[in-house]
Amino acid sequence: MAKTSKTATSKAATKPLKIHEVVKYPDPVLARRGEEVTVFDEELKKLVDEMFESMYTAQGIGLAAPQINISKRITVIDVSFKKNPKDKIVLINPEIVDRNGKQLEEEGCLSLPDIREKVSRAEWVKVKAQDENGKPFEIEGTELLGRCMQHEIDHLDGILFIDRLSRLKRELVLRKIKKLIKNGEW
Ligand SMILES: [Zn+2]
Repeated sequence: MAKTSKTATSKAATKPLKIHEVVKYPDPVLARRGEEVTVFDEELKKLVDEMFESMYTAQGIGLAAPQINISKRITVIDVSFKKNPKDKIVLINPEIVDRNGKQLEEEGCLSLPDIREKVSRAEWVKVKAQDENGKPFEIEGTELLGRCMQHEIDHLDGILFIDRLSRLKRELVLRKIKKLIKNGEW
């Protein structure tokens, strides 16, 4: 998910990590269901680190592996954008196990630059996931975190936030994107 406001970003970690390019709609990888992660090794940990750096570089607060052309059920989230280390969340093979209430807020997506629309989401969700070591855990979130988790888990199922708009709104957005593509501005 894209960050709302632009704030100064601190310097990246000393260890150079590969910064992956974020793929844009209509790349087919964004419409595919990501594969379950079954191997929890050093390579996975490196990928998670790279995903955080790629997300920060792209000014995002959430990034799902399909957005960097890796069709796996991995997502990283940091709704505080480096301000609070506790907000750095890794969800592997996540699943929403409970939800409640409703919130309607504007969302953006790194794969849909400059498109922002109000999306209806649950106000509270409980998510079951695994960490980088394969250890299962549960996490609950409301407001921005709740919304971000729903947005990112959608990516793992091949769903974009524009797929959750009304048919009319979605068509307007798609028309806008088509025009941008035609003009070479996408
Ligand atoms: Zn997104």
